[in-house]
Amino acid sequence: MFPESPPAEDSAPDDIRCPVAAVLGQVSMVDYPGHIAAVLFTGGCNFRCGFCHNAALFARADATYPWEVIRERAHGFRDEWANGVVISGGEPTLATGLPRLIEEMKNLGFLVKLDTNGSRPDVLAAVLPRVDYVAMDVKTAPERYRALTGFGDTDAIARSMALLRDGPTDYELRTTVIVNEHHDACMEALGRWIGGARRWVLQPFVPRDDLPDPALRSASRTPVARLCELRERLVACAEEVLVRGA
Ligand code: SF4
Repeated sequence: MFPESPPAEDSAPDDIRCPVAAVLGQVSMVDYPGHIAAVLFTGGCNFRCGFCHNAALFARADATYPWEVIRERAHGFRDEWANGVVISGGEPTLATGLPRLIEEMKNLGFLVKLDTNGSRPDVLAAVLPRVDYVAMDVKTAPERYRALTGFGDTDAIARSMALLRDGPTDYELRTTVIVNEHHDACMEALGRWIGGARRWVLQPFVPRDDLPDPALRSASRTPVARLCELRERLVACAEEVLVRGA
């Protein structure tokens, strides 16, 4: 999945190290709604989701590209009509170089979308004024968070949601729906928790052979009908409830 990963560990100090651990090899038409985008991945994550498609990045926080390589790649993506950059992960808010990465991309004229798990509201608050769009994962109902993700500080998640809800930056909350996890009561509790969000995206769980949780590797992909049924049931929980990737 990550054809372009850094050849060697960047030995620059943490405070200035470029946090990009992998780069999508071509521009994306689907990762930044309404834009053609380059996708940059940071390494390291403080969650351990069994359904993670980017688990190869868990241990890559120290193996990153030099800044000049990322600038050069960004110019190349712009030549391929990209007008946006998605900073994804891993979890980008763990990286001390995130503010500089955002500034580097803004200085090159890109719109910047940040993907985050919402676990670090203070970092989110600091970078939010320079970000054009945020996609924040809301994984499950609060009482089920730790079991599903390994992360139990749901107050932090709630603070990140409040920051987005109360601020001017456009955003979406998104949930990967797993049939055996996200039953009706769970989704209704999650809907109450995110109440009043601007946009809530429901996306399917997709099994793969390299998922961290072996039990999920052979689980079923979430049917479109289930996502549509949930959208109807939960339509009042956000200004807009969307099904994507079905
Ligand atoms: S938060 Fe995202 S990157 Fe981190 S483990 Fe979960 S799915 Fe993977």
